Amino acid sequence: MTMTNTDLTRKLNFNAGPAALPAEVLQQAAAAVLDYDNSGLSILEIPHRDAAFVAIMDESRQLVKELCNLNDDYEVLWLQGGGRMQFCMIPMNFLGESENAGYIDSGYWAESAYKAAKYYGNAQLLASTKDINYTHLPMWPAQLPAGLQYVHCTTNNTIYGTQLHTTPTCDVPLIADMSSDIFSCHRDYSKYAMFYVTVQKNLGAAGVTLVVLRKDLMERVKRTMPDMLTYKAHSAQQSMLNTPPVFAIYVSLLMLRWTKARGINAIEAENIQKAQLLYSEIERNSVFKPVVDVVADRSMMNVCFIAHDSSNEKAFIDFCATRNITGIKGHRSVGGFRVSLYNAVSLTAVETLAQAMHDFEKNRQ
Ligand SMILES: *Cc1c(COP(=O)(O)O)cnc(C)c1O
Repeated sequence: MTMTNTDLTRKLNFNAGPAALPAEVLQQAAAAVLDYDNSGLSILEIPHRDAAFVAIMDESRQLVKELCNLNDDYEVLWLQGGGRMQFCMIPMNFLGESENAGYIDSGYWAESAYKAAKYYGNAQLLASTKDINYTHLPMWPAQLPAGLQYVHCTTNNTIYGTQLHTTPTCDVPLIADMSSDIFSCHRDYSKYAMFYVTVQKNLGAAGVTLVVLRKDLMERVKRTMPDMLTYKAHSAQQSMLNTPPVFAIYVSLLMLRWTKARGINAIEAENIQKAQLLYSEIERNSVFKPVVDVVADRSMMNVCFIAHDSSNEKAFIDFCATRNITGIKGHRSVGGFRVSLYNAVSLTAVETLAQAMHDFEKNRQ
C-alpha cells in the first residue's frame, strides 16, 4: 500500500499535538516496524546497543547540529519525560537554592516552566500577559535584573497562537522551549544556550524530547542528583543512560531527514504562505475573527480564531467533518478554533480549509 499526502482516505489533520506527520515518514516508519533495513528484525526488536541503533543516534545528533548550524560547543540529547520534565530539569541543574532565574510568561507552558522552577530556587517573572489571557506577547524588560543564572522563554505559544519572530538579546544564558515551532523558520540557534523540543508537534511521535545545550552550561550543575536528572550524566552515556525510546527516536530521525531534504528555506516559505492564506481568510470572512490582534505576534504554527456568533462554532466543526477536515477545535482555555500548521501540513490542506470557511459563510447568507 502506498500512501500520499493527497490520499483521499487520509484526513486533513490540523491537530495541535500529537500532530500530522508526512505520509512518506509514516510509510517509512511502518516499513521499519515490519523489517528494519532488511535486517530480519523489526525496529521494535533491536537492542539499543546494536550498531544499527547507534547509527540512528549518531545520524540524528549530526542532523540536528547541521540543521541548527551549531558546532561542537553544543551537545544533543534525546531524553524522556516530555517538555514537562525539562521544566523541572532546567532549574534542578542550573538554579541553586538561593540563586535567581528569569522567566518570560507568554502562555500556559511558559507559566508551567516558571512554576516548576520555583521549587528549586528564586524564579522571577520578568514579564507576563496572563492578565489578558495571553492574547499578545509580553514585552521583554529593557534591562534584566542583575545576577540571573538564565532566562527562560517559549518561542511559540501552542495554545494561544502567538510566536516570537525575533531572537531576544540576552546577556545571560537564554533557554527556550521550541516544542511547537522547531525548524519552521530560520533561527539563529547559536543565540540560545539551550533549547528543547517535545517532538510530537513538529518533529515526530510522542515519547522523546530533543535537548540541545552548550557544553559549558551542562557543567554548571548546582546540586547533587541522581544521574537520570543530570544533563551531564545523560551526555556521558550518549543519551543511553536508560533504554532510550528507540522507535520514537527513529521517527524523529525520519523527520530530520525529511526536513533536510526539503530544506528550511522551502519549509519556511511554505509556512508563510499557509499562515497568510489562513489569516487572510479569517480577516475576510464575516463569520470569523482572529484571537490575536497584534499581527506581529501571530503564530505561523497555531492559528487561533473564534466565530462572532459562538453558535456557529460547533456548526463549522461539523461542516469541516464532511470535508475530511479534523483537529480544528480550540483549546478549552481559548475556545473557538485552533488550526495547527506544522511543517507536515500541506498548503493544499490549508487551501481546502480556507475553501470550507468560504463555503460555510456562503451557506449562512
Ligand atoms: C506540548 C507542549 C509542551 C508539553 O509537552 P509534554 O510533552 O506534554 O510535556 C510544552 N511546551 C510547549 C510549547 C508545548 O507545545
